[in-house]
Amino acid sequence: MALEYRNLMEDIVVQNAITMMQARECCTCDACTSDVVAYALNHVPPRYVATRKGQMLAKISGYELQYKADVVAAICDAIQVVKESPRHEGR
Ligand SMILES: [Zn+2]
Repeated sequence: MALEYRNLMEDIVVQNAITMMQARECCTCDACTSDVVAYALNHVPPRYVATRKGQMLAKISGYELQYKADVVAAICDAIQVVKESPRHEGR
């Protein structure tokens, strides 16, 4: 049997990053989105959970509410940094 675990924060950051970037008129190309996601994930504590098929989804919504404020703050900071010095090619 394989070990099954994942970082919930990763899901929450990815789910919220693009919408927040668009709202703040930040470039949403793959390079910038990756930078925002990576930066944000480095600034929130990871929340690893063991996952078993079927058990995961019910738990997520609860966790999401609990950690959403931290995640939103981290994404805000990340967007600021990426907007100031985007690393994408060209432009
Ligand atoms: Zn970009």
